[in-house]
Amino acid sequence: MQKRHLAILGSTGSIGTQALEVVEANPDIFEVEVLTAQNNADLLIEQAAKFRPNVVVISNEDLYDKVFAALDPLDIKVYTGDKSLASVVTMDSVNIVLTALVGYAGLIPTVAAIKAGKHIALANKETLVVAGELVTELAQKHKVDILPVDSEHSAIFQCLVGEFHNPIEKIILTASGGPFRGKDREFLKTVTKAQALKHPNWSMGAKITIDSASLMNKGLEVIEAKWLFGLTPDQIEVVVHPQSIIHSMVQFEDGSMKAQMGLPDMRVPIQFAIGYPNRLKSNFPRMDFAQFPSLTFEKPDYQTFRNLGFAFEALQTGGNMACIVNAANEIAVASFLRDEIGFLEMSDLIEDCMKKVSFVRTPTLEDYIETDKETRRLALEFV
Ligand code: NAD
Ligand code: MG
Repeated sequence: MQKRHLAILGSTGSIGTQALEVVEANPDIFEVEVLTAQNNADLLIEQAAKFRPNVVVISNEDLYDKVFAALDPLDIKVYTGDKSLASVVTMDSVNIVLTALVGYAGLIPTVAAIKAGKHIALANKETLVVAGELVTELAQKHKVDILPVDSEHSAIFQCLVGEFHNPIEKIILTASGGPFRGKDREFLKTVTKAQALKHPNWSMGAKITIDSASLMNKGLEVIEAKWLFGLTPDQIEVVVHPQSIIHSMVQFEDGSMKAQMGLPDMRVPIQFAIGYPNRLKSNFPRMDFAQFPSLTFEKPDYQTFRNLGFAFEALQTGGNMACIVNAANEIAVASFLRDEIGFLEMSDLIEDCMKKVSFVRTPTLEDYIETDKETRRLALEFV
């Protein structure tokens, strides 16, 4: 297997640190070229000292001196500033970029990486939500693979390997339902961020954990799936599966269905994306069916969790609508995490932005950038 030279954007986060576990377990397959972080300078320094990348980026400029002082003696270049992520991903030595940073910040570096011909292992779903059409067209043009890291999309991709010549009838995205499954709006009015941050099955970064509680995460994943697999909205079904053992399913035109299963462990999809097309031997815990005597399924509650419906609506509308939903949601989540708005108000804010932000039918990259800015402005006024 040819060696994989990785740039890991967001190496200090939940996905980033688990990706480095995979790298550490397979030193003859993976080589780290770039590591980046926003604020966690200490962990970035520790990771760089261990994995010896060529370059690190610390996005928070106030922390540059500290990181430089620690890594310059090790001959590791240190960058900071707005444009540095988009430039380090284009380095000759890199061949796969793992986008494990959170939110809209992933868009510009991902576009730069694709233009430079780098394959993308995509954890940063927001990039496809914001500009899925543009990003997937660009990837085709530059003959670059976008390999999904998100567990549901990895599941679908794993079901499709060997089936690329067979049309998909539909996909079934599974959702855990989050910590508030079965709750009503009355209950959700007063839930706190501490309650929302307790996910039953996965341990993840704060933003995606709140998104999971509000079902926005599943909404973003519906949009992500459309672009990754070229589907229409009516080919995408969401089913709540609280045990998170079946990671998603594909139904083919003969009616047959394939599912991909396993314990909830993000290292599996991370490893599949950066090791594709090979399945690397791992020592991750194996599933024991006796521990899961029943796998259950139920319909999502669209009345209580309105965000999921907004995502389908954005897909139907097209244009920059999903970009609006994403930016509004990023402000909503950040505001909820600062105790500035309540749990249900996050959906009100998104709905408000969907009505008010200027709609663009066929957006360019500049339009997406402008839409993101305009939506954030409006959303902050709402807060
Ligand atoms: P996290 O908050 O744990 O980590 C985010 C990382 O990105 C950190 O290294 C941080 O320093 C960096 N970062 C954050 N904001 C940045 C910015 N503006 N500019 C540059 N760097 C920035 O997040 P996570 O849970 O690892 O999620 C990362 C991405 O993966 C998200 O898009 C999320 O939706 C997706 N994802 C995560 C999981 C999971 O299990 N955590 C599962 C599926 C998909
Ligand atoms: Mg997921």
